[in-house]
Amino acid sequence: MREKTNFVHGYSGVSKDTGAISFPIYQGVTFAHPALGENTRGFAYARADSPTRQEFERSLALLEHGVRAWAFSSGMAAISVFIKLFDVGDHLIVSEDLYGGTYRLFTEVYEKYGLTFDYVDTSSPEKVNAAIKPNTKGIFIETPSNPLMHVTDIKAVAERMKEIGAVVAVDNTFLSPYFQKPLDLGADFVIHSATKYIGGHNDVLAGALIVKDEKWIEPIFTMAMSEGGTLGPSDSWLLLRSLKTLTVRMERQQENAIRIVEYMKKHPKIKRVFYVGDENHPDREVTLKQTTGFGGMISFALKNGEKVPEILKRFQVITFAESLGGVESLITYPMIQTHGAIPKEMRERLGVNDKLLRLSVGIEDVDDLIEDLEQALSI
Ligand SMILES: *Cc1c(COP(=O)(O)O)cnc(C)c1O
Repeated sequence: MREKTNFVHGYSGVSKDTGAISFPIYQGVTFAHPALGENTRGFAYARADSPTRQEFERSLALLEHGVRAWAFSSGMAAISVFIKLFDVGDHLIVSEDLYGGTYRLFTEVYEKYGLTFDYVDTSSPEKVNAAIKPNTKGIFIETPSNPLMHVTDIKAVAERMKEIGAVVAVDNTFLSPYFQKPLDLGADFVIHSATKYIGGHNDVLAGALIVKDEKWIEPIFTMAMSEGGTLGPSDSWLLLRSLKTLTVRMERQQENAIRIVEYMKKHPKIKRVFYVGDENHPDREVTLKQTTGFGGMISFALKNGEKVPEILKRFQVITFAESLGGVESLITYPMIQTHGAIPKEMRERLGVNDKLLRLSVGIEDVDDLIEDLEQALSI
């Protein structure tokens, strides 16, 4: 089957038992054993595996070209299970421009358990190479990065990591499997905040972890089942429904984003626009090589940050709120919101300052979005 069809039909397509087009929500937590040591379709207790979650996981594994996926109650829960595959004393390289919550999880939680992290600009293969230590066991990449849209050459980094026996994880939240397939480029793990594009409607908190190699199935299954952060049936069903429209949502969000970038680049109060689809983006060559689209995330720096609090109050179509990837356009102030957990010196050095705003473009009429930006920025 072709790619776009897989998004709509998922793993099973029409139910063989009932003919239902929509996969059922199996709310049940426990499953009957026909006899000692037997079960009907591999299910015993929902923390380990449950039918609706399994259908979502199988659909996502199919779309990411992986062998197995797990769905969790949040993106952070997925990252947390991934990071526990490492041992005390292991070192990881991490993209320095990344979601603030991931930085907080690594520094405030996992450093305490003996893991060490170095934050580097992973869009530079030289800097990645220079960060390698004898105990480097993995790299965690966000590409495009949040919020400054740096693009990491996944294939080049994966080749280098293979040489030193380290694994590669890519947070694929910004582009989704529709526009980017990190496992095909040599990554070992893909992570999603499914709360964002995959969910797409700002109504489900969820995460996912997908693997390329079967050797990870057992350790991750044990961790996911032991910790119990796995996703419930109703939320799994919402994600299954969302996957069906992911391709059209992303196409429309990208189309709107391209129009908004054109508008922003001519705006006298905007100093710089960060969008991976921009012809002048410094990593354009890598983007064209490894992705099939640019997505709907734009960051932009104002010439003057003083008016930001007032500007944020003026939006009427776009909503001032954290999060991204939904059908509704949201504007965020990364310095205070998504990246508040990152130390000030690091933020300033990267350019996440009082002038930077991030726009997650929705599927509204783009002229309404442009008019809203126009009036909000007019003060
Ligand atoms: C939101 C986000 C996360 C965290 O996901 P939650 O679902 O909020 O736990 C991780 N990575 C990226 C890139 C995100 O945008």
